[in-house]
Amino acid sequence: MKTIIIGGGVFGLTAAIELATRGHAVTLLDPGPLPHPLAESTDISKVVRIDYGADADYTALGEAAIAGWKTWNAGWPRPLFHETGVAFLSRTPMQPGGFEHDSYELLVSRGHALQRLTAADIPTWFPAYRPGALVDGYFNPVGGWAESGAVIAKLAAEARMSGVTIIANRAVERITASGVDDLTAELVVVCAGAWVTQLLPELEDSIRASGQPVFHLRPSERSLFEASRFPVFGADIARTGYYGFPATSDGIVKIANHGAGEPGINEGDLAVRPDQDAALRLFLRTVFPALADAPIVHRRVCVYADTLDGHFWIAPHPDRPNLVVATGGSGHAFKFAPVLGALIADIALGIPHPLAHKFRWRPELVAPTRGDAARHADR
Ligand SMILES: Cc1cc2nc3c(=O)[nH]c(=O)nc-3n(C[C@H](O)[C@H](O)[C@H](O)COP(=O)(O)OP(=O)(O)OC[C@H]3O[C@@H](n4cnc5c(N)ncnc54)[C@H](O)[C@@H]3O)c2cc1C
Repeated sequence: MKTIIIGGGVFGLTAAIELATRGHAVTLLDPGPLPHPLAESTDISKVVRIDYGADADYTALGEAAIAGWKTWNAGWPRPLFHETGVAFLSRTPMQPGGFEHDSYELLVSRGHALQRLTAADIPTWFPAYRPGALVDGYFNPVGGWAESGAVIAKLAAEARMSGVTIIANRAVERITASGVDDLTAELVVVCAGAWVTQLLPELEDSIRASGQPVFHLRPSERSLFEASRFPVFGADIARTGYYGFPATSDGIVKIANHGAGEPGINEGDLAVRPDQDAALRLFLRTVFPALADAPIVHRRVCVYADTLDGHFWIAPHPDRPNLVVATGGSGHAFKFAPVLGALIADIALGIPHPLAHKFRWRPELVAPTRGDAARHADR
């Protein structure tokens, strides 16, 4: 089928490669160069985890994605997925219903070898942590982080190699009955991230842009933040929102917040507010003393395409034939990149998929609930 993909983030590019590989004639349009500087998928790093509380769907999808990341790494000149392992730690003893507890239980029941960590273990294993700040949790050797912007650049190159026509510097203005703007197509897949409601206003009540603060810090004691003693972490993430990464090769430690976010944000006001800086400093003072006064060398507000239940939105449009929407990453989709293309292609081509129901077209939802157990409880 002659197919148009709107948007060159991780949803658009992986779908384009998969559909082209299945023999469809694919054209992808995006206003940016790829990676687009404002796209969610564009950053120095994204967490790759299989830890999803009691949710076996995302855990299974994550396990498949990890295998995919390793295959991708093997084909790339240098690895872009770094398997440092992940540490999910809690300020109070792990409790049933809590993200750390339920992840631990589910992962152990699936045969994963996790290392439970006591209050004494945590600063011993990870000396950057203030003793007593976090008192329970575990280390999971499976998982780590991916260089997301670099991955997008690789996927764009691979898409071209797979025969995808990428038209950059062109935004789609309108979706028509026969395609987009002056282009015709038999299938249109909208992967426009948080911008989707500009093209499909009927989704305004179901998918909302929410701004999340991201900070890049340069610690003076860099060795404390090397991956071997400072893996990807969630610091009581479901209650603080804070998570972060080991130092990059140029000594940057990224810390961000997987919280409720700033609703209704638009491109004009993507500035981190002073109270968000202050909140970060308080968190650092409490948990990572060696980072408490480290200079912030970059800050950014990055925008989630947030669904009300935190699950992705990958579904055919109920009223517009040959139109499929694939977005709603809700702050946690990048890690699934190696399996996302096949998932979107199956649903776009009407091939049954076990997760189609979870990601269905669901305007009946009215109130926010927490689909991703790691997401801050007050979203
Ligand atoms: C701060 C932050 C931290 C995150 N951390 C993680 C993490 O640690 N782990 C993880 O798994 N996920 C994480 N995520 C989520 C993840 O980044 C997203 O779910 C994913 O990247 C969304 O990809 P996308 O392709 O839907 O959107 P985007 O990457 O935003 O791409 C959408 C594309 O559509 C294009 N577009 C928009 N309008 C049009 C138009 N009219 N015509 C043509 N093109 C258009 C844009 O230019 C853009 O390139 C995070 C997200 C944020 C914001």
